[in-house]
Amino acid sequence: MPSIAENIRQVRDRIVTLEARHGRPTGSVQLLAVSKTHGAERVREAHAAGLRAFGENYVQEALDKMAALAEPVDDAAALTDITWHFIGPLQSNKTKEVAAHFAWVHSIDRLKIARRLGEQRPDKLPPLNVCVQVNISGEASKSGVAPEETEALCEAIAGLPGLVLRGLMAIPAPSEDLAAQRDVYRPLAEQFRSLQQRHATMDTLSIGMSGDLEAAIAEGGTMVRVGTGIFGRRE
Ligand SMILES: *Cc1c(COP(=O)(O)O)cnc(C)c1O
Repeated sequence: MPSIAENIRQVRDRIVTLEARHGRPTGSVQLLAVSKTHGAERVREAHAAGLRAFGENYVQEALDKMAALAEPVDDAAALTDITWHFIGPLQSNKTKEVAAHFAWVHSIDRLKIARRLGEQRPDKLPPLNVCVQVNISGEASKSGVAPEETEALCEAIAGLPGLVLRGLMAIPAPSEDLAAQRDVYRPLAEQFRSLQQRHATMDTLSIGMSGDLEAAIAEGGTMVRVGTGIFGRRE
């Protein structure tokens, strides 16, 4: 089985290749390592291979991992330079922990959650970076705001203290074919570019996972969220 370091090297090479193939500047696509279900030791391995941005879906699992990584282990130092991204569904009873421990939230799909996160963001921390999750697959997904409601939600969030509106995120229904994957992302990318005209802080289009990196990069994604491609299959 290839090591995590080897997987990371391959994913990075692939991103550089796809940036070139689709006319994107080198370095315009950031890699977020999705470490859900994988233990703190594996995050350490990915960190040792140079990654600093990690995505988690489950609050308690993430907090346990953060605590483990904040401790030195044997001769390995405590890791203090990780940027944590919350990418899973978020219930209102968990917003306080997320506001206190994460730098980013990608999965905002209602104003109530955004408001709570902003209010609960500790004063000593910089504002929380947030993306609005858009439901681009209709019935196939329960998460995300409808495309036609996205603009209004962005407008409301942009005015909230404690938050910075950074962009849009989406999880499409799985499909195998590059052309079909691109067709699903294209309207979202157009909506993103149009919103950027109104909101100068919007610089992040969080699309693309292990199975659809090329479609995401071809359509203008700026942050890809890769789990399986880095850590292998989840149990
Ligand atoms: C699990 C997950 C990923 C990573 O998916 P892979 O197919 O393992 O790369 C990306 N984004 C979200 C929101 C996820 O929940």
